[in-house]
Amino acid sequence: MSENLIIADGLVVVLNYTLRSDEGEVIDASTREDPMAYLHGADNIVPGLEQALTGKTVGFTGKVRVEPEDGYGERDDLPPQPVPRSAFPPDMKLAAGMQFMTEGPNGEHAPVWIDRVEGDQVFVDPQHPLAGKALNFEVEVLAVRTATANEMSHGHPHGPDGHSHHH
Ligand code: ZN
Repeated sequence: MSENLIIADGLVVVLNYTLRSDEGEVIDASTREDPMAYLHGADNIVPGLEQALTGKTVGFTGKVRVEPEDGYGERDDLPPQPVPRSAFPPDMKLAAGMQFMTEGPNGEHAPVWIDRVEGDQVFVDPQHPLAGKALNFEVEVLAVRTATANEMSHGHPHGPDGHSHHH
C-alpha cells in the first residue's frame, strides 16, 4: 500500500499511544506490536484526541493534551449511588473501575462504573472514572486506511488490518 491518506472521517487509524495523568501516571497505553485501531468520526475515541489527529498522516508523532470538556467531560459532585450486591450476577467478581450497562425507564442504555464495594452494597457512578481529568496523550500514527463497508456499518474497526473476528 503506497497511498498516504490524510486522517478524516471514514478512515481507520492505527495508533500507538500512551495516556498519562497530569501527575505523570500512565493510565493506559498500547504498544507498536499491539496498537489501537479506531474509526475516525465515529465517536470511538475522545473528541479532543480525534480533533488533534484530523489532517495528520502516517508517521505523525506528538503530544496531545485534552481538557476534560473534550475528554470524558467535567465531573459533577454527585456521590456514587449504592446498589444492592444482589442486583449483580452472584458469580461475578466485582471491582472498582468495572463498567456495566444499565437500562433506564425508557429502555435507554447508559454506562455506570463501580466506585467501590462495601459489604453487600455496590457504589456505582454514572460518570466515567476519567471525568474531570485532563488527558495527556503521546501518540504515533502507525497506519491509515479506508474502512470496509462492514466496519462502517458497525461504526468501529475490526482490528488494524480489518480482519479481526468478533461478536
Ligand atoms: Zn464490528
